[in-house]
Amino acid sequence: MMNMRGLYLHIPFCEHKCIYCDFYSIEQTDGIQSFVDNLRKEITMAAETIDEGLPFTSVFLGGGTPSLLTPAQLDDIVNMLHRSLFIAPDVEFTVETNPGTVDIEKLKAYKSIGVNRLSLGVQSFVSDDLEFLTRIHSVEDAERCYHNSRIAGFDNINIDLMFSLPSHNREQWFYNLRRTMELAPDHISAYSLTYEKGTPLHTMLQRNEVKPIDEELDAELYELTIDTLEAVGYSQYEISNYAKDGKECLHNRTYWEYYDYIGLGPSAHSFIEGKRYWNVKNLESYNRKIWGGVMPVAGEEKLTNDQRAEEEIFLGLRTKGVDLEKIKNFYNLDLLHRKTEEISSFSERGFLIIDNGILRLTKSGKAYADWIASELM
Ligand code: SF4
Repeated sequence: MMNMRGLYLHIPFCEHKCIYCDFYSIEQTDGIQSFVDNLRKEITMAAETIDEGLPFTSVFLGGGTPSLLTPAQLDDIVNMLHRSLFIAPDVEFTVETNPGTVDIEKLKAYKSIGVNRLSLGVQSFVSDDLEFLTRIHSVEDAERCYHNSRIAGFDNINIDLMFSLPSHNREQWFYNLRRTMELAPDHISAYSLTYEKGTPLHTMLQRNEVKPIDEELDAELYELTIDTLEAVGYSQYEISNYAKDGKECLHNRTYWEYYDYIGLGPSAHSFIEGKRYWNVKNLESYNRKIWGGVMPVAGEEKLTNDQRAEEEIFLGLRTKGVDLEKIKNFYNLDLLHRKTEEISSFSERGFLIIDNGILRLTKSGKAYADWIASELM
């Protein structure tokens, strides 16, 4: 099996905070240069603590809006990465890109710096949806961005989509899927809208200003996504992710298959040899720590045997299934024995199957993955 190791860089700036977003980012762009200087320092500081033997097989710039970086700023970061860390020659290098922040010149410059995968935050091909989500870009911006990315030479492009908006029904969501398929991206991530605490959308929910669609329709739209995308050659390799042959996101697989990863930048998480640690979730504190010459780590935990087993079950259900024998041997956990009732009940309802010792969600079970996983943990 290929040995993977991921590097995540969190760029915490957005031109505008979307109503549903609970990622750490600030609605401001004038601190980007000093942040880039500090991120470069954090890279050198982290390099002193990292085992040099294993290359980073993926680099992922997320946020926030990493595509707010100028090519010169991105180039500075990339130079520092190559100077300080062992980056694999065939690294998968992704930048999350907001279609409202790039033109063809910037895309070409990103490509020449070494970026070889773009994840475009399109969300919808319906103007009313974009307005509801308070995205800064239009449908035309998204399409232009996609075509410009191809012209700039990107042959690995993801499109992010969001379904189960309050106005969605089967036809509207299928329209979005059809427009996406016409563009034929290499990878599609499709997430159901969630109402996260602390977001303006959650406040709207509490004030009854917005009504979520019901659970059955959400499950129906989810199954429609699977059927539609699989019919045209995308395989679902994680609960919300679909890829053409050979275009699975390596970086995501690092998380889902339980490999080590390092996260730099405010709020970024790292996972090394069973230890998880995370950076401060505040740009000012982050800057102060780096200026003071200390790593901006806010906390850490060493996962117990049970926690690791639970994570593997959770991640396994979302991806290739849970290898019951491995869980038993590795974590001394006989899941079939421990959760007999739950497993039989979900199997009778058609949500779970056991196939050659692998416990898997069925298509209808995938719509309830989080609930099923929590019952099994
Ligand atoms: S652009 Fe992305 S990171 Fe920024 S607020 Fe919107 S969803 Fe969140």
